[in-house]
Parts: sequence; structure tokens; C-alpha cells
Amino acid sequence: MKIRIDEGHGGAQPGACAQGYKEKDLTLQIGNALAAELTRCGFAVNRTRTTDVDIGLSTRASRANQWGADYFVSIHLNAGGGQGAETWCSITGGQSKTLAQCINTQLVGLGYKDRGVKSRKGSDGRDYLAVIRETNMPAVLAEVGFIDSAVDMALFDAGKAAAAIAKGICNHTGIAYKQAATVPQYTAPAITGLTLDTRSKDMATGDKYTLLAKCKDKPVISDIVGRDVIKVLRVYLDPKGRGWLIDVEGLPPEPVARHGHIKVTADGVTQQCNFNVK
Ligand SMILES: [Zn+2]
Repeated sequence: MKIRIDEGHGGAQPGACAQGYKEKDLTLQIGNALAAELTRCGFAVNRTRTTDVDIGLSTRASRANQWGADYFVSIHLNAGGGQGAETWCSITGGQSKTLAQCINTQLVGLGYKDRGVKSRKGSDGRDYLAVIRETNMPAVLAEVGFIDSAVDMALFDAGKAAAAIAKGICNHTGIAYKQAATVPQYTAPAITGLTLDTRSKDMATGDKYTLLAKCKDKPVISDIVGRDVIKVLRVYLDPKGRGWLIDVEGLPPEPVARHGHIKVTADGVTQQCNFNVK
């Protein structure tokens, strides 16, 4: 399924400008994020622009026609003293209208006031909006809030807007929306007690040693002897799921060999680990 993204304005045509924002920059930000969203969901994506260039309305439509897009999605921000999101469709309704409804529902889900799905007939009896009139495939134009509304711009987030538009397209086309990969959440193993490698560690000044504490609850460094010799940098979950990791650094000055140790407590067990810094 082929989606043509049409990032509104660009180059010498900044679109609406207010509160320090330029519409052309925000539509490009949304376009960048939307391309990634749709690609991840399995769509073929093609775009009006990926840089700050001015492309005419007829060219926007004819290029989408040449590419043979299945759907055309134009991105804009509104202006003029209102508030909320609205999505434009063809006066002929059909898939243009149902796609617009799917996208608008998702935009409103971000917190924008619902201005609804709209269409407008030009004086020649055809669609007023050129990109909707001149494209051969179902086309919509989303207005992602008002650039001159403080309320709307507080809501503005290009990534969230893109995700909303992508979900709307997925809902309309029946294609499953794929969430972006999230940062893995590490967990500690459900083990009792504390197992620590208590052998002495030899370190050079400035070296970092990572100590594995096999335990469930976050271990507490209950004592440090030789605070001028070693320093505990951080205690954090082991990405490999074995327990917790403790980063210890050997402190200057050299070259005198010095010793320090830390006491680690978890699950009611305390163990000691020694460090030799030379
Ligand atoms: Zn615009």
C-alpha cells in the first residue's frame, strides 16, 4: 500500500507563522516522523519534500499521481484565531472522507478540540483545495491544531501527531499499527540472598570495575572503607537479567598501592569486596 505524504509549504512559502513557529518547519517535522511510522507499519512511503523547499500545489498532486499513490495525506497547521484539529476531505466523500474521519479521531485523541471533518466546494463545483482536487487517489488534508493558539502549541508534538496520523491510516486501511520499539525494561531475577564475587580486584587509578551482585532487590552499599581510594559510581540493573551491577572507580593519586573495600547488603545479607588500587 502506497502513501504519499505531502508536507505543507516550504522554502519561500513558510505558511502560517506565529509564536516563533513556522508552519513549514512543523509540517516537515511531522512528515519526517510520519514516514518512519508508516514505513515501520509496512507501507510504501513517498514524500513531497524532505527539505525546506517550495513545491507548487499542482506539482504536489501530479507527482503523487505519477507515483501511483493509494492515498495522499497533506499535513498543515491552521491559523486565524481558532483552536483544535480538523481534517479536510473531498466533497465527493468516499474513502477520502472515511480516511479523514479516522485521522481526525486520532488527532482529537491527542487532546485537540474536535473541529471535525470538512470539505469545501470551489466556484467551479469541484473541490476547493488543489491537492484534493488534482490528485487521482483518495486525498485528505490534516490541520494539526492552530499555530497561533497557545493551547494547541502546548499540545504540539511532531512525533505524537505523526503516530496519530499513522494510526488513522492503519485503521482506515485495516493494517495493524506497529508501535515503535521501546527501551527494554530490565528486571532483576527472583532470587533470594546475595551472591557477590568477593575476590580482591586489582585496579589502576582511573579504572572502572563493574561488580555483579546477584540479588533481587537493589543492593545497598552499606559501607565504604577507603573513600580516598575507591568511589562507587552507580548501582543499576544488569541488562542481562542476572541481578545488579555496581560500578567502582579507582581514585588517584598513584603510585602507592592502596586498598579499599565496599560492603554490599541485599535481602538481609552483607558481603564485602576488596579493591587494590595501584
Ligand atoms: Zn498550511
